[in-house]
Amino acid sequence: TTFKELQLIEPIQKALEAQGYETPTPIQQQAIPHVLQGKDLFGCAQTGTGKTAAFAIPILQQLALRETEKGKRKISTLILTPTRELATQIEENFQEYGKNLDLRTAVIFGGVNQNNQVKRLQNGVDILVATPGRLLDLISQKYISLAHIEIFVLDEADRMLDMGFIHDVKKLLTIIPKKRQTLFFSATMPDSILSLANSILTNPVKVEV
Ligand code: AMP
Repeated sequence: TTFKELQLIEPIQKALEAQGYETPTPIQQQAIPHVLQGKDLFGCAQTGTGKTAAFAIPILQQLALRETEKGKRKISTLILTPTRELATQIEENFQEYGKNLDLRTAVIFGGVNQNNQVKRLQNGVDILVATPGRLLDLISQKYISLAHIEIFVLDEADRMLDMGFIHDVKKLLTIIPKKRQTLFFSATMPDSILSLANSILTNPVKVEV
């Protein structure tokens, strides 16, 4: 399979070429068509498999094909990930693959002053990459609303639980709109992960690499 066969739009194909990507990895081949169709996804994949692009590319394409009112950006996609390093990498990937599109991204994480993150949010953002604690913090300060989320990605769910974020994740799930597309990724599938996945996914397509 080629990226062209996955029916990606020209601006995204061009960005992937510029990145030096020639062919989609197995998880990208399996996941991209379903995510483009708006389906929920249950992905069993480690870092290094191309998992980030497997969700970032079809999310960017969905948002690019959508009619949006200029000057009225609302956060429509939320990616929740456990660490600052992962959050930073994910946002960089969205920027690379989306560099020919008119979409804005932001990344927020704890352990640093919030001012720059808040400024970026106030400029209008379509795609937000976040770690749980700082996200809840900025929501309670009213700098962020999750009322318009249409796509929600829970990345590295097993690490999220190992790091003790389950309470934060559950709290966020009460705030994120129920009518949405949900993509769930975990490298391992213990019972705790399966039951969390079950509680937040609707008829998911399962992808394992
Ligand atoms: P990830 O599993 O998302 O952490 O990605 C692992 C690495 O593979 C990253 O450095 C990506 O830039 C790279 N990558 C992702 N997809 C492709 C692809 N289709 N071709 C070549 N490299 C890729």
